[in-house]
Amino acid sequence: MKVCKVEGCDKNIHAKGLCRKHYERLADTGSLYLPKVSCSICGTEFEARDARQKTCSKECSKTLRNNISLKWDIDNPEKKKVRQDNFLQARPLYSTWLGMKQRCYRKNHRSYPNYGGRGIKVCSRWKNDYQAFEDDLLTTYKEGLTLDRENNDGNYEPENCRWATWEEQNSNKRVKT
Ligand SMILES: [Zn+2]
Ligand SMILES: [Zn+2]
Repeated sequence: MKVCKVEGCDKNIHAKGLCRKHYERLADTGSLYLPKVSCSICGTEFEARDARQKTCSKECSKTLRNNISLKWDIDNPEKKKVRQDNFLQARPLYSTWLGMKQRCYRKNHRSYPNYGGRGIKVCSRWKNDYQAFEDDLLTTYKEGLTLDRENNDGNYEPENCRWATWEEQNSNKRVKT
């Protein structure tokens, strides 16, 4: 049985080498791909499977499902505490991953001007894949450490990231600026 020619799609062919969904989407919108949308939790752009998909990853949809409003209350300490209590147990680096993405992509985040606003990005390996981030960084993580970029103008990527104490991180910034 032949399958749809769209990468990652394993549905049976309906017409012109495409499954029904992709054939109809092409007919309706003129494109096989959906426009990119911003994750409603972390702000990262992603290609939605369909119009109902509001989040970029399993972890962000879990946040959404648990009805923890980060959208308007990201800087509200009470809300932040709820989020961390829920997720730090289940996924140890989730709040680190989310914070990193929000600083880079969520334009209304208070730290965005110093990160996304300066062109700092998250590498493609980590951007929409919490698990990859955890796989790369959990082995060296210790409680109380923060994620630091060695080159302050560089991106969040394995070669440029390490765990540091607040003191180390701040002295690093002072040297660089
Ligand atoms: Zn398809
Ligand atoms: Zn997200």
